[in-house]
Amino acid sequence: MGGNNSYEMAVRQLTEACSLLELERGICEVLKQPQRVIEVSVPLRLDNGEIRVFTGYRVQHNNARGPFKGGIRYHPELTLSEVKALAMWMTWKCAVVGIPFGGAKGGVAVNVKELSQAELERLTRTYTSRIMDFIGPERDIPAPDVYTNARVMAWIMDTYSAHVGYPVPAVVTGKPVEIGGAPGREAATGRGVATVARAAAERLGLSCRCAAVQGFGNVGYHSAKLLHEAGYRILAVSDSKGGIFCESGLKPEAVLEHKLKHGSVMGFPGAKEITNEELLSLEVDILVPAALERVITRRNADDVNAKMVVEGANGPVTPSADRILEERGVVVVPDILANAGGVTGSYFEWVQNRNGFYWSEERFNTELERVMSRSFEEVFSRAEREEISLRLAAYLLAVERVAKVRELRGIYE
Ligand code: GLU
Repeated sequence: MGGNNSYEMAVRQLTEACSLLELERGICEVLKQPQRVIEVSVPLRLDNGEIRVFTGYRVQHNNARGPFKGGIRYHPELTLSEVKALAMWMTWKCAVVGIPFGGAKGGVAVNVKELSQAELERLTRTYTSRIMDFIGPERDIPAPDVYTNARVMAWIMDTYSAHVGYPVPAVVTGKPVEIGGAPGREAATGRGVATVARAAAERLGLSCRCAAVQGFGNVGYHSAKLLHEAGYRILAVSDSKGGIFCESGLKPEAVLEHKLKHGSVMGFPGAKEITNEELLSLEVDILVPAALERVITRRNADDVNAKMVVEGANGPVTPSADRILEERGVVVVPDILANAGGVTGSYFEWVQNRNGFYWSEERFNTELERVMSRSFEEVFSRAEREEISLRLAAYLLAVERVAKVRELRGIYE
């Protein structure tokens, strides 16, 4: 198994953890497979009257520790194997930070840039109706992911509520604040990234002052903004069209304003244009890949010149690259820890929806930073104690927690 796709990569990471934990083989087999795979066809009538059919997925990996939880991704190259990997990573992520959810992921293979707002709404509602029987506040709770946002979550919430006959805010997280979204959720993944990046720099005794961020969506933008606020110079950022570099540092808010106006970070005044590949090889203290999977592979891992890689995205570093980075002394703060602020924030939102009692943004941020710092410390001390990488330590903690619950609950045949 060479890790040629994301699911193989996820299985390889799991297998390594299972063998170190000396888990019963059968339990490892159970954890390798998603509990349920849903594939649906999503027909859409375009504004011009034509009908197009898209493929949608929802993969429910494991719900031993609580309801399935995970985002919905709209991406033209989305595949079932990718969704299966992302669903499995959600299971470990929730376990690492100790929130009572299992793991799932879903999405539609579609290029949202080719759709109007009205088409996007119809597509979202049809997709929701197709997975309707499998989601719910106690069952499976979707959230935003690549190319989906609060607005899409509002349509999912509305479609689900229309079907059951009353408003159900807790069926999805990452909603607009006006309909039960939590103030703070939008920035939560980035806040988590910044929190663990700072904690790691401190614990490892690295003096970190500058960073580069790949991806300028929700995760990339908020990571850059919060690192900038913490005093870091943001040397470079990028999006799918390319990157920008500025030796004296970029102001993330100004770059966002430019991106909203021109559709890309490219062309930002005063910055030099670079490629995504160049961004990954910049000499920086902290590199945050916050776009898609498998961008640092055995082919370019030797070019990484950062002291630390903090995985804002899911699965940006392949297992072969992991090994190369480790040999070269580049610390990797793994995705299942580094970007868990998002789902932790989702948990807070879900708790508030179910209680009908709403927190202030300040409370949200304080609780989030507490969970992220505590989780980092747990992973870090395990890594130190067992002399293993942060990724392996995070996996051991996560898989152990899920396996323990499986053992307590038993196997129902
Ligand atoms: N899509 C995000 C992730 O990959 C958030 C998931 C959630 O909040 O459920 O972690």
